[in-house]
Amino acid sequence: MKRYNRRDFWKLGAISASILGIGESFSRRAFGALKGEFKLDKAGRDFSPITGKKRKAIPSACWQCVARDGIIGYVEDGRVVKLEGNPKLPRTNGKLCAKGQAGINQVYDPDRVLYPLKRVGKRGEGKWKRISWDEALNELTYRLKELHDKGEPEKFMFQYGRMKASSEKIIKSYFLAAYGTGTVANHTSICESGKWTGQELVWGACFDNNDFEHTNMIINFGCNIYEAHTNHLPLVQKLVKARAKGVKLITFDVRLSNTAAKSDEWIPIKPGTDLAVVLAICSVIIKEGLYDRAFIETWTNVTVKQLKDHLRQYTPKWAEGISGVPASKIKQLAIEYANAKPGCLFGYRGAVMHYNGVETERAMLMIDAICGYIDVKGGKCKAVGASWKNSFPEPHTKKKKLKIIDGFPGDYAFPTHHASHQVLKMIKDGSHGRPEIYMRSEERRVGKECRSRWSADN
Ligand code: SF4
Repeated sequence: MKRYNRRDFWKLGAISASILGIGESFSRRAFGALKGEFKLDKAGRDFSPITGKKRKAIPSACWQCVARDGIIGYVEDGRVVKLEGNPKLPRTNGKLCAKGQAGINQVYDPDRVLYPLKRVGKRGEGKWKRISWDEALNELTYRLKELHDKGEPEKFMFQYGRMKASSEKIIKSYFLAAYGTGTVANHTSICESGKWTGQELVWGACFDNNDFEHTNMIINFGCNIYEAHTNHLPLVQKLVKARAKGVKLITFDVRLSNTAAKSDEWIPIKPGTDLAVVLAICSVIIKEGLYDRAFIETWTNVTVKQLKDHLRQYTPKWAEGISGVPASKIKQLAIEYANAKPGCLFGYRGAVMHYNGVETERAMLMIDAICGYIDVKGGKCKAVGASWKNSFPEPHTKKKKLKIIDGFPGDYAFPTHHASHQVLKMIKDGSHGRPEIYMRSEERRVGKECRSRWSADN
């Protein structure tokens, strides 16, 4: 079996910065700079069914989820009337999922805030008045300058949802860095930090990429990939192709999701117990001698003997008692998967958004490691992201930071990727300092409409 030469990641145990979603910035790099009408030969054209007039086609990126697929927005009489996948984008082959197509509702949502509002009543009274962009920007600039001049840049707090590639670079590496605040919070701890941390501990960064197109068997723990995924549309198309070729899909899930329903087998499992099944699968593979000794000895920091000694306790019977999955089924699948050569095993929120999510993610990667399915055709590899290069030197101002990003001390044994669900509580509590300006950014971009919703209050 051909191996590629990027396998040295395996020995890395250090936590490093997370990498970008694999295609997040690609579509914007490829198409974001294009302005005006997009010239497409045959595909990518659309006409009004009433007047027959050709609609203006504007390329953009779907921001309905983090996959950021390439889209074309069709405009008629100044209104976006339809969204389609960009036919020139190889990641998605011109497809757009249902959620992506529904993105048009974001543009014309009657509740969408399109202009700055200033609070005029007491906090919580819900009284606001409309102000101009100039007024809003001037006031914000004045307050930011005042804070900066007092030597308290850390009291400017910035919190964001999804921010990647060029927007991340511009806001974090330039704007916030130049200002000098390190009081920057995100949302990862209430999202997928279990998966991120598990992968960072194993191969130094998050995410993975699964080569469904060339694999022989797929096992899924808690991911509803037919409906959503971090890299949904590009990845599910590969899965559909694999399934059309007859590749087996087994899904462990607490519920009969659409993905479970479309699998060869749905194996119901008690919530939060995936780890027990995963460890038992590892145990069977080692016990039956179906492991890839060369991979283990070359690319991990444990020996086969150590694995045998450690995994002996995790029998299928033990896992059955915890998860409700029959021991005979666990054993059968473990043997089948190890013999698939290669297989793809992936998991997501159903498995990793539990108190034991970090260890579940690590154990899932252990299955593919002991089978030798890492960095092989038809297996999985660490994903890579596009980088955003620029010619402007980055500012290296010394940053100051309020200690409110990682939650109350002692509340978490192992906080990583911050504790965003505690930030508001910490601000209210005030014992670790309070920001004077709190700016929040949620980005939603559809078609040519491209705005950030900002709120700043003190
Ligand atoms: S997967 Fe769907 S919602 Fe997500 S970016 Fe692609 S088209 Fe948009």
